[in-house]
Amino acid sequence: MTGEILCVGTELLLGDIINTNAAFLARELAALGIGVYHQTVVGDNGGRLREAVELALSRSDLLVMTGGLGPTYDDITKETATEALGKKLVWNQQAYDRMEAYFARTGRVMSENNRKQAMMPEGAVVFQNENGTAPGAAMESGEKVIVLLPGPPSEMEPMFCNQVRPYLEGKTGQTFLSRTVHLFGIGESAAEEQLRELMESSHNPTVAPYAKTGEVLLRVTAAAKNEQEAKKLLAPAVEEIQKRMGPYVYGVDVGTLQNAAVTALRQKGLTVSTAESCTGGGVAKRITEVPGASQVLQAGICTYTNRMKAELLGVKERTLQNYGAVSERTALEMAQGVRIRTGADIGVSVTGVAGPDPSEGKPVGLVFVSVSSPWYEQTVQLHLARGSGNERERVRHLAENHALYAVLQAARKAPQR
Ligand code: ATP
Repeated sequence: MTGEILCVGTELLLGDIINTNAAFLARELAALGIGVYHQTVVGDNGGRLREAVELALSRSDLLVMTGGLGPTYDDITKETATEALGKKLVWNQQAYDRMEAYFARTGRVMSENNRKQAMMPEGAVVFQNENGTAPGAAMESGEKVIVLLPGPPSEMEPMFCNQVRPYLEGKTGQTFLSRTVHLFGIGESAAEEQLRELMESSHNPTVAPYAKTGEVLLRVTAAAKNEQEAKKLLAPAVEEIQKRMGPYVYGVDVGTLQNAAVTALRQKGLTVSTAESCTGGGVAKRITEVPGASQVLQAGICTYTNRMKAELLGVKERTLQNYGAVSERTALEMAQGVRIRTGADIGVSVTGVAGPDPSEGKPVGLVFVSVSSPWYEQTVQLHLARGSGNERERVRHLAENHALYAVLQAARKAPQR
Protein backbone atom coordinates (compact mmCIF):
# COMPACT_ATOMS: atom_id res chain seq x y z
CA MET A 1 0.00 0.00 0.00
CA THR A 2 1.29 3.49 -0.79
CA GLY A 3 0.26 6.44 1.30
CA GLU A 4 0.80 10.13 1.61
CA ILE A 5 0.33 12.83 4.18
CA LEU A 6 -1.42 16.14 3.63
CA CYS A 7 -1.43 18.67 6.45
CA VAL A 8 -3.78 21.61 6.24
CA GLY A 9 -3.22 24.97 7.89
CA THR A 10 -1.99 28.42 6.94
CA GLU A 11 -0.05 28.55 10.24
CA LEU A 12 2.04 25.64 8.98
CA LEU A 13 2.81 27.42 5.73
CA LEU A 14 3.86 30.55 7.56
CA GLY A 15 6.13 28.63 9.89
CA ASP A 16 4.15 29.65 12.96
CA ILE A 17 3.89 26.03 14.01
CA ILE A 18 6.10 23.07 13.28
CA ASN A 19 4.58 20.21 11.35
CA THR A 20 4.99 17.58 14.03
CA ASN A 21 1.91 15.75 12.73
CA ALA A 22 3.71 14.92 9.50
CA ALA A 23 6.71 13.55 11.40
CA PHE A 24 4.49 11.46 13.68
CA LEU A 25 2.39 10.09 10.83
CA ALA A 26 5.41 9.36 8.65
CA ARG A 27 6.89 7.22 11.41
CA GLU A 28 3.61 5.48 12.11
CA LEU A 29 2.79 4.72 8.48
CA ALA A 30 6.30 3.41 7.88
CA ALA A 31 5.90 1.13 10.89
CA LEU A 32 2.70 -0.18 9.30
CA GLY A 33 4.63 -1.07 6.16
CA ILE A 34 2.90 1.66 4.15
CA GLY A 35 5.26 3.35 1.70
CA VAL A 36 5.04 7.13 2.02
CA TYR A 37 6.45 8.98 -0.99
CA HIS A 38 4.93 12.43 -0.57
CA GLN A 39 4.11 14.91 2.18
CA THR A 40 2.27 18.13 1.40
CA VAL A 41 1.21 21.23 3.31
CA VAL A 42 -1.53 23.54 2.07
CA GLY A 43 -3.19 26.55 3.63
CA ASP A 44 -6.87 26.91 4.34
CA ASN A 45 -7.74 27.52 0.71
CA GLY A 46 -10.45 25.52 -1.04
CA GLY A 47 -9.00 25.54 -4.56
CA ARG A 48 -5.46 24.60 -3.58
CA LEU A 49 -6.67 21.99 -1.12
CA ARG A 50 -8.84 20.35 -3.81
CA GLU A 51 -5.86 20.29 -6.19
CA ALA A 52 -3.65 18.70 -3.53
CA VAL A 53 -6.25 16.03 -2.67
CA GLU A 54 -6.80 15.14 -6.34
CA LEU A 55 -3.08 14.89 -6.99
CA ALA A 56 -2.59 12.68 -3.94
CA LEU A 57 -5.43 10.36 -4.96
CA SER A 58 -4.00 10.06 -8.46
CA ARG A 59 -0.74 8.56 -7.17
CA SER A 60 -1.37 6.94 -3.76
CA ASP A 61 -3.79 4.38 -2.29
CA LEU A 62 -4.07 6.12 1.05
CA LEU A 63 -4.23 9.81 1.90
CA VAL A 64 -3.95 10.83 5.55
CA MET A 65 -4.98 14.42 6.22
CA THR A 66 -4.70 16.46 9.41
CA GLY A 67 -6.12 19.84 10.38
CA GLY A 68 -9.05 21.92 9.24
CA LEU A 69 -11.68 19.73 10.86
CA GLY A 70 -12.81 22.44 13.23
CA PRO A 71 -16.18 24.18 13.32
CA THR A 72 -15.27 27.45 11.61
CA TYR A 73 -15.86 28.52 8.03
CA ASP A 74 -12.20 28.08 7.04
CA ASP A 75 -12.16 24.46 8.20
CA ILE A 76 -12.81 22.88 4.82
CA THR A 77 -10.84 19.64 4.92
CA LYS A 78 -13.79 17.32 5.40
CA GLU A 79 -15.92 18.98 2.74
CA THR A 80 -13.13 18.98 0.17
CA ALA A 81 -12.05 15.39 0.79
CA THR A 82 -15.64 14.12 0.74
CA GLU A 83 -16.32 15.86 -2.53
CA ALA A 84 -13.11 14.53 -4.08
CA LEU A 85 -14.34 10.97 -3.48
CA GLY A 86 -17.75 11.85 -4.94
CA LYS A 87 -19.53 11.50 -1.60
CA LYS A 88 -21.90 13.58 0.49
CA LEU A 89 -21.80 14.69 4.11
CA VAL A 90 -24.57 13.25 6.21
CA TRP A 91 -25.70 13.81 9.80
CA ASN A 92 -24.04 11.45 12.29
CA GLN A 93 -26.05 11.27 15.51
CA GLN A 94 -23.39 9.31 17.38
CA ALA A 95 -20.74 11.92 16.59
CA TYR A 96 -23.13 14.63 17.76
CA ASP A 97 -23.93 12.79 21.01
CA ARG A 98 -20.22 12.30 21.74
CA MET A 99 -19.55 15.96 21.13
CA GLU A 100 -22.41 17.00 23.37
CA ALA A 101 -21.07 14.74 26.12
CA TYR A 102 -17.58 16.24 25.65
CA PHE A 103 -18.93 19.77 26.08
CA ALA A 104 -20.92 18.74 29.17
CA ARG A 105 -17.85 17.04 30.66
CA THR A 106 -15.61 20.06 30.09
CA GLY A 107 -18.26 22.53 31.23
CA ARG A 108 -18.31 24.41 27.93
CA VAL A 109 -21.20 25.56 25.82
CA MET A 110 -21.64 24.01 22.40
CA SER A 111 -22.05 26.55 19.67
CA GLU A 112 -24.28 26.23 16.63
CA ASN A 113 -21.07 25.96 14.56
CA ASN A 114 -20.16 22.73 16.29
CA ARG A 115 -23.16 21.02 14.67
CA LYS A 116 -21.13 21.14 11.46
CA GLN A 117 -18.65 18.75 13.05
CA ALA A 118 -21.35 16.08 13.34
CA MET A 119 -21.71 15.99 9.55
CA MET A 120 -19.65 13.03 8.39
CA PRO A 121 -18.94 11.55 4.95
CA GLU A 122 -21.57 8.97 4.01
CA GLY A 123 -20.45 5.40 4.73
CA ALA A 124 -17.37 6.60 6.62
CA VAL A 125 -15.78 4.90 9.58
CA VAL A 126 -15.96 7.56 12.28
CA PHE A 127 -13.13 7.93 14.81
CA GLN A 128 -14.41 9.50 18.01
CA ASN A 129 -12.33 12.26 19.53
CA GLU A 130 -11.62 11.48 23.19
CA ASN A 131 -9.63 14.68 23.67
CA GLY A 132 -11.50 17.31 21.69
CA THR A 133 -14.53 17.92 19.56
CA ALA A 134 -13.73 17.18 15.92
CA PRO A 135 -14.25 13.49 15.10
CA GLY A 136 -11.96 11.87 12.54
CA ALA A 137 -13.05 9.63 9.70
CA ALA A 138 -11.93 7.13 7.10
CA MET A 139 -13.73 6.93 3.80
CA GLU A 140 -13.19 4.59 0.94
CA SER A 141 -13.95 4.72 -2.73
CA GLY A 142 -12.78 1.78 -4.83
CA GLU A 143 -9.11 1.26 -3.99
CA LYS A 144 -8.68 4.74 -2.53
CA VAL A 145 -8.85 5.61 1.16
CA ILE A 146 -8.83 9.02 2.82
CA VAL A 147 -8.28 9.32 6.57
CA LEU A 148 -9.19 12.63 8.19
CA LEU A 149 -7.64 13.58 11.52
CA PRO A 150 -7.86 16.68 13.73
CA GLY A 151 -4.94 19.11 13.80
CA PRO A 152 -3.98 19.30 17.49
CA PRO A 153 -1.39 16.59 18.18
CA SER A 154 -2.97 15.89 21.57
CA GLU A 155 -6.13 14.83 19.72
CA MET A 156 -4.58 13.38 16.59
CA GLU A 157 -1.98 11.08 18.14
CA PRO A 158 -4.25 9.10 20.49
CA MET A 159 -6.89 8.89 17.77
CA PHE A 160 -4.31 7.45 15.41
CA CYS A 161 -2.90 4.96 17.90
CA ASN A 162 -6.20 3.73 19.31
CA GLN A 163 -8.46 3.80 16.28
CA VAL A 164 -6.72 4.49 12.98
CA ARG A 165 -3.84 2.06 13.39
CA PRO A 166 -6.16 -0.94 13.96
CA TYR A 167 -8.30 0.25 11.02
CA LEU A 168 -5.24 0.38 8.73
CA GLU A 169 -4.02 -3.01 9.99
CA GLY A 170 -7.42 -4.34 8.95
CA LYS A 171 -6.89 -2.85 5.48
CA THR A 172 -3.44 -4.32 5.02
CA GLY A 173 -4.63 -7.65 6.49
CA GLN A 174 -1.64 -7.74 8.80
CA THR A 175 -0.65 -7.02 12.35
CA PHE A 176 2.43 -4.91 12.84
CA LEU A 177 4.54 -5.12 15.95
CA SER A 178 7.60 -3.04 16.76
CA ARG A 179 10.38 -3.20 19.28
CA THR A 180 12.76 -0.36 19.92
CA VAL A 181 16.42 -0.99 20.67
CA HIS A 182 18.03 1.95 22.48
CA LEU A 183 21.66 2.81 21.84
CA PHE A 184 23.91 5.25 23.66
CA GLY A 185 27.44 6.36 22.90
CA ILE A 186 27.26 5.95 19.14
CA GLY A 187 26.08 8.39 16.46
CA GLU A 188 23.33 7.64 13.98
CA SER A 189 25.63 7.38 10.99
CA ALA A 190 28.09 5.10 12.76
CA ALA A 191 25.21 2.89 13.92
CA GLU A 192 23.81 2.83 10.41
CA GLU A 193 27.17 1.89 9.00
CA GLN A 194 27.49 -1.07 11.34
CA LEU A 195 23.96 -2.22 10.60
CA ARG A 196 23.67 -1.29 6.93
CA GLU A 197 23.88 -4.84 5.64
CA LEU A 198 21.29 -6.01 8.18
CA MET A 199 18.99 -3.10 7.37
CA GLU A 200 19.22 -3.67 3.65
CA SER A 201 18.78 -7.41 3.81
CA SER A 202 15.90 -7.59 6.28
CA HIS A 203 12.46 -6.87 4.90
CA ASN A 204 10.40 -8.51 7.59
CA PRO A 205 11.16 -7.39 10.19
CA THR A 206 12.46 -4.09 8.93
CA VAL A 207 15.13 -2.22 10.87
CA ALA A 208 15.01 1.57 10.82
CA PRO A 209 17.18 3.92 12.85
CA TYR A 210 16.08 7.26 14.11
CA ALA A 211 18.04 9.70 16.17
CA LYS A 212 17.04 11.69 19.22
CA THR A 213 19.48 14.30 20.54
CA GLY A 214 22.43 12.21 21.65
CA GLU A 215 20.72 8.85 21.31
CA VAL A 216 19.97 6.42 18.54
CA LEU A 217 16.87 4.29 18.47
CA LEU A 218 16.44 1.32 16.18
CA ARG A 219 12.87 0.42 15.44
CA VAL A 220 12.42 -3.20 14.43
CA THR A 221 9.02 -3.86 12.89
CA ALA A 222 7.51 -7.16 11.91
CA ALA A 223 4.37 -7.78 9.87
CA ALA A 224 2.50 -11.03 10.41
CA LYS A 225 -1.00 -12.41 10.48
CA ASN A 226 -1.14 -12.25 14.26
CA GLU A 227 0.78 -10.91 17.24
CA GLN A 228 2.33 -14.23 18.13
CA GLU A 229 3.81 -14.67 14.65
CA ALA A 230 5.09 -11.10 14.71
CA LYS A 231 6.81 -11.71 18.07
CA LYS A 232 8.48 -14.80 16.64
CA LEU A 233 9.87 -12.75 13.76
CA LEU A 234 11.06 -9.95 16.04
CA ALA A 235 12.98 -11.96 18.63
CA PRO A 236 15.93 -13.14 16.47
CA ALA A 237 16.29 -9.74 14.79
CA VAL A 238 16.47 -7.93 18.13
CA GLU A 239 18.97 -10.51 19.35
CA GLU A 240 21.12 -10.02 16.26
CA ILE A 241 21.18 -6.25 16.79
CA GLN A 242 22.11 -6.73 20.44
CA LYS A 243 24.93 -9.02 19.35
CA ARG A 244 26.29 -6.58 16.76
CA MET A 245 25.85 -3.38 18.76
CA GLY A 246 26.57 -5.00 22.14
CA PRO A 247 28.25 -2.30 24.23
CA TYR A 248 26.01 0.47 22.92
CA VAL A 249 22.68 -1.19 23.64
CA TYR A 250 21.26 -0.02 26.93
CA GLY A 251 17.80 -1.44 26.62
CA VAL A 252 14.90 -2.64 24.53
CA ASP A 253 11.57 -0.80 24.78
CA VAL A 254 12.81 1.20 27.76
CA GLY A 255 11.21 4.51 26.77
CA THR A 256 13.75 7.15 27.70
CA LEU A 257 17.15 7.25 29.37
CA GLN A 258 15.58 8.60 32.55
CA ASN A 259 13.01 5.82 32.47
CA ALA A 260 15.73 3.21 32.12
CA ALA A 261 17.74 4.77 34.95
CA VAL A 262 14.79 5.00 37.35
CA THR A 263 13.71 1.44 36.53
CA ALA A 264 17.23 0.12 37.20
CA LEU A 265 17.42 2.02 40.50
CA ARG A 266 14.04 0.72 41.61
CA GLN A 267 14.89 -2.84 40.66
CA LYS A 268 17.96 -2.72 42.89
CA GLY A 269 16.29 -0.65 45.64
CA LEU A 270 18.82 2.19 45.26
CA THR A 271 18.68 5.94 45.68
CA VAL A 272 20.51 8.67 43.79
CA SER A 273 21.35 12.33 44.38
CA THR A 274 22.51 14.81 41.78
CA ALA A 275 25.00 17.68 41.97
CA GLU A 276 24.79 19.88 38.94
CA SER A 277 26.44 22.97 37.64
CA CYS A 278 26.01 23.68 33.92
CA THR A 279 22.82 21.60 33.60
CA GLY A 280 21.15 23.69 36.32
CA GLY A 281 19.09 20.85 37.77
CA GLY A 282 18.21 19.29 34.40
CA VAL A 283 19.29 15.81 35.44
CA ALA A 284 17.11 15.92 38.55
CA LYS A 285 14.24 17.33 36.50
CA ARG A 286 14.44 14.48 34.03
CA ILE A 287 14.53 11.90 36.82
CA THR A 288 11.41 13.46 38.33
CA GLU A 289 9.61 13.17 34.98
CA VAL A 290 9.37 9.44 35.62
CA PRO A 291 6.48 8.28 37.80
CA GLY A 292 7.89 6.62 40.90
CA ALA A 293 10.93 8.94 40.98
CA SER A 294 10.22 9.71 44.63
CA GLN A 295 11.39 6.21 45.51
CA VAL A 296 14.82 6.78 44.00
CA LEU A 297 15.70 10.49 44.02
CA GLN A 298 17.10 11.62 47.31
CA ALA A 299 18.10 15.20 46.40
CA GLY A 300 19.08 17.40 43.51
CA ILE A 301 21.54 20.18 44.30
CA CYS A 302 22.41 22.89 41.83
CA THR A 303 25.74 24.44 42.76
CA TYR A 304 26.71 27.13 40.32
CA THR A 305 29.37 29.03 42.23
CA ASN A 306 32.62 27.64 43.55
CA ARG A 307 31.61 28.70 47.06
CA MET A 308 28.48 26.55 46.90
CA LYS A 309 30.41 23.62 45.47
CA ALA A 310 32.65 23.84 48.50
CA GLU A 311 30.00 24.63 51.12
CA LEU A 312 27.17 22.35 50.03
CA LEU A 313 29.11 19.49 48.49
CA GLY A 314 32.44 19.64 50.29
CA VAL A 315 34.56 20.12 47.17
CA LYS A 316 38.04 21.06 48.46
CA GLU A 317 39.17 24.69 48.00
CA ARG A 318 42.50 23.31 46.85
CA THR A 319 40.81 21.28 44.11
CA LEU A 320 38.92 24.29 42.83
CA GLN A 321 42.05 26.43 42.89
CA ASN A 322 44.38 23.92 41.28
CA TYR A 323 42.08 22.33 38.71
CA GLY A 324 39.15 24.72 38.33
CA ALA A 325 35.40 24.14 38.59
CA VAL A 326 35.33 22.36 35.25
CA SER A 327 37.69 19.50 35.91
CA GLU A 328 37.74 15.79 36.48
CA ARG A 329 38.74 16.22 40.12
CA THR A 330 35.94 18.69 40.90
CA ALA A 331 33.34 16.50 39.17
CA LEU A 332 34.41 13.51 41.23
CA GLU A 333 34.36 15.43 44.52
CA MET A 334 30.90 16.80 43.64
CA ALA A 335 29.55 13.29 43.03
CA GLN A 336 31.18 11.92 46.18
CA GLY A 337 30.05 14.92 48.20
CA VAL A 338 26.41 14.81 47.18
CA ARG A 339 26.27 11.06 47.76
CA ILE A 340 27.78 11.19 51.22
CA ARG A 341 26.03 14.38 52.40
CA THR A 342 22.57 13.23 51.32
CA GLY A 343 23.02 9.59 52.27
CA ALA A 344 22.22 8.32 48.77
CA ASP A 345 23.60 5.11 47.29
CA ILE A 346 24.74 6.84 44.12
CA GLY A 347 25.89 10.41 43.52
CA VAL A 348 26.11 11.88 40.06
CA SER A 349 27.56 15.22 39.03
CA VAL A 350 27.88 17.44 36.01
CA THR A 351 30.25 20.37 35.60
CA GLY A 352 31.09 21.94 32.28
CA VAL A 353 31.13 24.88 29.91
CA ALA A 354 27.76 25.16 28.17
CA GLY A 355 28.72 28.34 26.32
CA PRO A 356 28.34 30.45 24.33
CA ASP A 357 31.57 31.78 25.88
CA PRO A 358 34.53 29.76 27.18
CA SER A 359 35.08 29.77 30.92
CA GLU A 360 38.29 29.41 33.00
CA GLY A 361 40.04 29.32 29.62
CA LYS A 362 38.27 26.06 28.90
CA PRO A 363 36.40 25.50 25.64
CA VAL A 364 32.64 25.43 25.16
CA GLY A 365 31.35 21.88 25.30
CA LEU A 366 33.96 20.58 27.75
CA VAL A 367 31.95 18.70 30.36
CA PHE A 368 32.85 16.28 33.13
CA VAL A 369 30.29 13.78 34.37
CA SER A 370 31.08 11.77 37.44
CA VAL A 371 29.26 8.97 39.19
CA SER A 372 30.14 7.76 42.64
CA SER A 373 28.98 4.77 44.64
CA PRO A 374 30.66 2.35 47.03
CA TRP A 375 30.93 -0.26 44.26
CA TYR A 376 31.59 1.88 41.18
CA GLU A 377 33.13 5.23 40.48
CA GLN A 378 33.81 6.80 37.14
CA THR A 379 34.41 10.23 35.66
CA VAL A 380 34.17 10.92 31.95
CA GLN A 381 35.51 13.88 30.06
CA LEU A 382 33.26 14.93 27.19
CA HIS A 383 33.61 17.31 24.26
CA LEU A 384 30.04 18.04 23.33
CA ALA A 385 30.27 21.09 21.08
CA ARG A 386 30.21 20.94 17.32
CA GLY A 387 31.75 24.37 17.04
CA SER A 388 28.93 26.21 15.33
CA GLY A 389 26.43 28.72 16.70
CA ASN A 390 25.05 28.84 20.22
CA GLU A 391 25.02 25.27 21.39
CA ARG A 392 24.13 25.91 25.00
CA GLU A 393 20.90 23.92 25.03
CA ARG A 394 22.35 21.05 23.04
CA VAL A 395 25.44 20.80 25.26
CA ARG A 396 23.27 20.85 28.38
CA HIS A 397 20.92 18.19 27.03
CA LEU A 398 23.78 15.91 26.01
CA ALA A 399 25.45 16.38 29.39
CA GLU A 400 22.22 15.34 31.11
CA ASN A 401 22.06 12.27 28.88
CA HIS A 402 25.55 11.25 29.94
CA ALA A 403 24.71 11.74 33.61
CA LEU A 404 21.55 9.63 33.31
CA TYR A 405 23.51 6.98 31.47
CA ALA A 406 26.15 7.00 34.22
CA VAL A 407 23.44 6.47 36.83
CA LEU A 408 22.03 3.59 34.78
CA GLN A 409 25.47 1.98 34.56
CA ALA A 410 26.09 2.37 38.29
CA ALA A 411 22.68 0.92 39.17
CA ARG A 412 23.18 -2.05 36.88
CA LYS A 413 26.62 -2.75 38.31
CA ALA A 414 25.32 -2.66 41.88
CA PRO A 415 25.38 -5.95 43.74
CA GLN A 416 21.90 -7.38 44.35
CA ARG A 417 20.82 -6.74 47.91
P1 ATP B 1 -9.86 22.25 15.98
O1 ATP B 1 -10.98 21.35 16.34
O2 ATP B 1 -8.99 22.60 17.16
O3 ATP B 1 -10.24 23.46 15.15
P2 ATP B 1 -8.65 21.31 13.53
O4 ATP B 1 -8.70 19.91 13.08
O5 ATP B 1 -9.48 22.31 12.77
O6 ATP B 1 -8.93 21.32 15.07
P3 ATP B 1 -6.56 23.15 13.02
O7 ATP B 1 -7.51 24.27 13.35
O8 ATP B 1 -6.08 23.01 11.65
O9 ATP B 1 -7.17 21.77 13.49
O10 ATP B 1 -5.33 23.23 14.00
C1 ATP B 1 -5.53 23.41 15.39
C2 ATP B 1 -4.19 23.45 16.09
O11 ATP B 1 -3.57 22.17 16.00
C3 ATP B 1 -3.16 24.39 15.47
O12 ATP B 1 -3.28 25.69 15.95
C4 ATP B 1 -1.87 23.76 15.91
O13 ATP B 1 -1.55 24.13 17.23
C5 ATP B 1 -2.18 22.29 15.87
N1 ATP B 1 -1.79 21.70 14.57
C6 ATP B 1 -2.51 21.70 13.43
N2 ATP B 1 -1.86 21.06 12.45
C7 ATP B 1 -0.68 20.66 12.97
C8 ATP B 1 0.44 19.95 12.45
N3 ATP B 1 0.47 19.52 11.19
N4 ATP B 1 1.48 19.70 13.27
C9 ATP B 1 1.44 20.14 14.56
N5 ATP B 1 0.42 20.81 15.10
C10 ATP B 1 -0.64 21.08 14.33
